[in-house]
Amino acid sequence: MIDPATEKVITKVGLGGKREINLAVQAARKAFPKWSASAPDERTRIILRFAELIEEHQDEFTELAIRDGGIPRAIAETCPFFCALFLRYYAGWPTKITGQTLPSTPHGKDPADVLAYTLREPIGVVGGITPWNYAFGMEMLKIAPALATGCCLVLKPAEEAPIAGLFLAELAHQAGVPDGVFSVVNGLGHQAGAALAEHPDVDKIAFTGSTEVGRLIVHAATGNLKKVSLELGGKSPVFVFPDADMDLAIPGVAMAGFAMSGQNCVCGSRLYVHEDVADQVAEGIAAFASQLSLGSTQNANTDVGPLISAKQRNRVEKMIRNAKKQGATLVCGGARGKGKGYYIQPTLFDHCKPSMELVKDEVFGPVIAMQRFSDKDSFEQLAAMANDTCYGLSGSVWTRDLEAAMVMTKAINTGQIGVNCHAAMDPSMPFGGTKESGWGAEFGEAGIELFTKDKAVTLMWN
Ligand code: NAD
Repeated sequence: MIDPATEKVITKVGLGGKREINLAVQAARKAFPKWSASAPDERTRIILRFAELIEEHQDEFTELAIRDGGIPRAIAETCPFFCALFLRYYAGWPTKITGQTLPSTPHGKDPADVLAYTLREPIGVVGGITPWNYAFGMEMLKIAPALATGCCLVLKPAEEAPIAGLFLAELAHQAGVPDGVFSVVNGLGHQAGAALAEHPDVDKIAFTGSTEVGRLIVHAATGNLKKVSLELGGKSPVFVFPDADMDLAIPGVAMAGFAMSGQNCVCGSRLYVHEDVADQVAEGIAAFASQLSLGSTQNANTDVGPLISAKQRNRVEKMIRNAKKQGATLVCGGARGKGKGYYIQPTLFDHCKPSMELVKDEVFGPVIAMQRFSDKDSFEQLAAMANDTCYGLSGSVWTRDLEAAMVMTKAINTGQIGVNCHAAMDPSMPFGGTKESGWGAEFGEAGIELFTKDKAVTLMWN
């Protein structure tokens, strides 16, 4: 495993394949009957203990998060907090997962002679396949609802970030999660990942990653028609209206694009600004970017860390070169950071066109593509610009005008949208994508639904 901030090999981990996936799935199958029938408050107790252990190991957790994916210290410090918060939210669920009684009268039966109800049951053995960006968090989105619902989970983390899952499995074990309920198999996507996705004894795949691999997962799942949920890529639109509070909007839209070096699915990489404030916003973002410190992930003051790999940095640099060739105006950034590490400066391009690669494709780097709009563009036209993409994950609207906020939030076709904030996440709020950004939503009650199934029961006595 390579630290992207130093380009040094920092550790080696075992490479699992089909055999290891088989063993983990067999262990999960074996553990499932007892775990799925465990008392709900017992699962709550174990999940709460797991959260406590994460807090007790907060410093170790942060150190691992810095190395596992090259996250700057300030962001890595949020990892244990997020994981404990998420676990505590799901710890409340086991005692609240219920079915319904329904006024069913099959075959014209007298309702007095029928009792119809549903049972909400765990879906079974789940395969979790996750990406490297914010690995601890991405993995927790699978672990917490699996434990809460009584499912067993085999997790295949990203090969670029193989440490987080192992550490979480160790703490889960200490918290009392029984053997086989949660296992981790590190390995390559096309080997261990593919073996899990096509495994006949796996009931569901919960995948987070690229849209391209999401399609492969769907194909692999057809053998036993396992259920699939997908959290995929995005190309999130951000609108700044002329009445916006610029003190809030400028740093807000800058960080929508630059946070995690743009390596997040909700990255606000398509910026649309009203012409009256476009120069102010472009200059403001450039000034804000010049204050961001690009540097060692170990440094507490670092705002922008490296990209995950040399390959990814080369890809982003190529997209920057293409944007210049296609006539976009470089406002700031556009170059590598100094010294070792896969750094790219926070970059803003103005005067982009809808047809440009930078506007259409997910960059996964700290690059914002800005376009300008005017009073001539109706809300309908603005929404059409926002929706002119195969993705539908997140977005935001920066305004103090209630009509603009209401109309735009309804018209933009994404799973999540913010007003005067971008990608505000909370364990209780569902998060998922429309169009090619995914199937299903995680977080909140939606996450419980993804890991459970309804059984309809009808009792008759006459
Ligand atoms: P990726 O799709 O390359 O890899 C994700 C996971 O899939 C990894 O564990 C990988 O090993 C595995 N994989 C690769 N090929 C596979 C195959 N043939 N069969 C089974 N598994 C396979 O994504 P990445 O580069 O790790 O992460 C970046 C992508 O993830 C971006 O597109 C980003 O938008 C997306 N993402 C989405 C969300 C969300 O919630 N919507 C969150 C984070 C990241």
